[in-house]
Amino acid sequence: MRNIGPIVLLGPPGAGKGTQSKRIADRYGIPQISTGDLLRENVQRRTDLGLKAEAQMARGDLVPDNLVCDMVAWRLRDTDCERGFILDGFPRTVRQALWLDAFLKHQFLENPKRHVCSPIVVRFDVDYNKLSLRLNGRRTCPACGLIYNIHLQPPQVDELCDVDGSKLIMRDDDRYEVIQERLATYERQTMPVAEYYARERRLISVNADRPVDEVTAQLFQEIESHAAATASG
Ligand code: ADP
Ligand code: AMP
Repeated sequence: MRNIGPIVLLGPPGAGKGTQSKRIADRYGIPQISTGDLLRENVQRRTDLGLKAEAQMARGDLVPDNLVCDMVAWRLRDTDCERGFILDGFPRTVRQALWLDAFLKHQFLENPKRHVCSPIVVRFDVDYNKLSLRLNGRRTCPACGLIYNIHLQPPQVDELCDVDGSKLIMRDDDRYEVIQERLATYERQTMPVAEYYARERRLISVNADRPVDEVTAQLFQEIESHAAATASG
């Protein structure tokens, strides 16, 4: 399989980044690196990082840049990232975006052993009024990670995963009180990240306010034309 390179997915909480990441990962055989999932694992395992991040996550604030960048750096050194990877929920501040550019340049673009092309950066655009319903209705399978929505994409049997029958769980931060704070955090700290990539003419916008399959089809198209353009250029 050819190199796909880094895929950066930006967009507000609930935009569909996790849902689409899993489809991209299956199609191209590259890992999904969700900083939210990695942080939640650390909280669950009561690691030093988890203990430091827990309070901010519960409030809907961002975890400090240095902690998240170190965590991403560790994960990206794994060999499964050599052909490419999906960053889901990272970068979320301009400092993280600048850090990522520098890291990719040194670890990937200038490293003959890790030949991946330059990152494709995609922003998911969704009507803000729909995000609360998407987030509050989100349920996740703790065993396989599949994402459902009790209003929009319900499982066949109430609250049970279609694939393995596990009881679906709701994230603590998908309660209405925290959702408002997470959306405000996105506007304040993450919207400028999209502006940074747009200024550099590296931003692709996708209308994510459409059925999941339609969004997936457009993403595959964008990823393939980016990989082809970068390989030939
Ligand atoms: P993010 O990772 O961006 O926070 P998710 O992929 O977890 O978002 O999706 C949030 C919720 O919205 C989930 O319940 C998911 O099932 C639902 N969802 C995702 N994409 C769509 C879509 N295109 N249309 C309707 N609902 C969607
Ligand atoms: P998510 O699963 O992407 O919705 O992230 C859940 C929570 O994890 C966020 O509300 C933040 O508290 C934290 N988080 C995830 N990614 C980042 C990041 N790149 N920078 C800072 N905090 C993050």
